Amino acid sequence: MAAADIDALDRDDPLAGLRDRFVLPEGLIYLDGNSLGPAPREVAGDLAGVVTQEWSNDLIASWNKAHWFELPQTLGTRLAPLIGAAGDEVLVCDGVSVNLYKCLHAALALRPERHVVVAEQAGFPTDLYILDGLGAQRTDLSLRLEGRDGDRLEDLIDEQVAVVLVNHVDYKTAALRDMAALTARAHEAGAIVVWDLCHSAGVIPVELDACEADFAVGCTYKYLNGGPGSPGFIYVARRHHEHLRQPLTGWWGHAEPFAFDSDYRPAPGIKAMLTGTQPILSMRALVAALAACDRVDMAQVRAKSMALTDLFITLVDEHCDGLGLELASPRDAALRGSHVSFAHEGGFAVMQALIACGVVGDFRAPDLLRFGLAPLYIRYRDVADAVEALRDILVSQSWRDPAFSGRSGVT
Ligand SMILES: *Cc1c(COP(=O)(O)O)cnc(C)c1O
Repeated sequence: MAAADIDALDRDDPLAGLRDRFVLPEGLIYLDGNSLGPAPREVAGDLAGVVTQEWSNDLIASWNKAHWFELPQTLGTRLAPLIGAAGDEVLVCDGVSVNLYKCLHAALALRPERHVVVAEQAGFPTDLYILDGLGAQRTDLSLRLEGRDGDRLEDLIDEQVAVVLVNHVDYKTAALRDMAALTARAHEAGAIVVWDLCHSAGVIPVELDACEADFAVGCTYKYLNGGPGSPGFIYVARRHHEHLRQPLTGWWGHAEPFAFDSDYRPAPGIKAMLTGTQPILSMRALVAALAACDRVDMAQVRAKSMALTDLFITLVDEHCDGLGLELASPRDAALRGSHVSFAHEGGFAVMQALIACGVVGDFRAPDLLRFGLAPLYIRYRDVADAVEALRDILVSQSWRDPAFSGRSGVT
């Protein structure tokens, strides 16, 4: 594809102006927003104000005056339209792993007579680890895993299944599940579905209510750009609120936290999913970060995401043929999230070499190069430049330099 064609894509991009809402270091092509989104421009100033005014000056009064106490609900209401939910069905709190634990318990409690959980062996490991911990307490449970007990998740679902835990977008391959169809399939068998939206929230128009989803969790530090360790979210369909029971029954989820009763009584509605005091600075950063998605048309975001990932694959086909890359993502954009992955025998070192030339993606064991293409700030030009750098590294074999084989803790 000619350079002029790439330039035309950027020129005609209706989302091009959004890039200015983010701080992106000069000269860096950042293709890792699916792991940690960049800082939205407003966050630093807003957060400084929170520290100097709300914390330093107003101190404890800020729980009321600055509405700190309601942040899980106000942020949930802000986030809700991005995932196709009503404002009172979403809470922002804790982290994904903890929220998953709460949701799985709550989902299981809705099907007390059933004892099987279906999940994916290739799912994000924390999902499986949380299931492992759950299984240690609930010895009546048994696990059926796609990839171990059957090839297709759908085939593992029958009348014995209480809960299906499933990723909307696979963190390695970017394979996208059909939320409406899979939810319907689970409901047909009487099972409850818990969706993990970590790799779709903020980048794919999710329609939880329209799909009649039951529960969902997701994170805000990936495509929602909330910052390192920003809190996760929980969705619970309104029809389940009345029977909501979760295991981490802390005081923030109490009907009257400031009554300081010695007996636990759950708050009505989704608030029952709260546990304890929340990371207010992170939540305030998220308020500013979500403003970067204000008035953004998710259909346009999805269209650009598909175009960016298509372009990446087309350019790799054109320029990296015979260089040892194998596409690990679906070729059909309709079946793919917003990242693309390629297997390469030297995957880890190739990614290190790319990072050294200013193209930041990440590596996922055993051999995957992963490139996140976030439509709010990535340009078509960035994709072309990244593929050119990748090609140069593979042709010159510069990745074989021993300097690129040393691993740090986070890959
Ligand atoms: C990123 C991610 C998580 C992260 O969980 P934390 O508790 O926030 O560390 C969980 N599940 C999936 C699918 C993810 O991609």
